[in-house]
Amino acid sequence: MAVPFRRTGKTAKRMRRSHFKLEVEGIVKCPHCGAYVQSHRVCPECGYYDGKDVLGLKKEG
Ligand SMILES: [Zn+2]
Repeated sequence: MAVPFRRTGKTAKRMRRSHFKLEVEGIVKCPHCGAYVQSHRVCPECGYYDGKDVLGLKKEG
């Protein structure tokens, strides 16, 4: 089995770990109800998108 020629320096180690972060990006607050939602998705809390009730949840209940 191959063995690393050099020990990984602390800067290289830190730069590699700079990519270890939360996976889901593009999280915004819903402008209608304030819940955290993915951008460019219909809000699952209130069914609003682009300022409109696209799912029609309000009429049902
Ligand atoms: Zn909402």
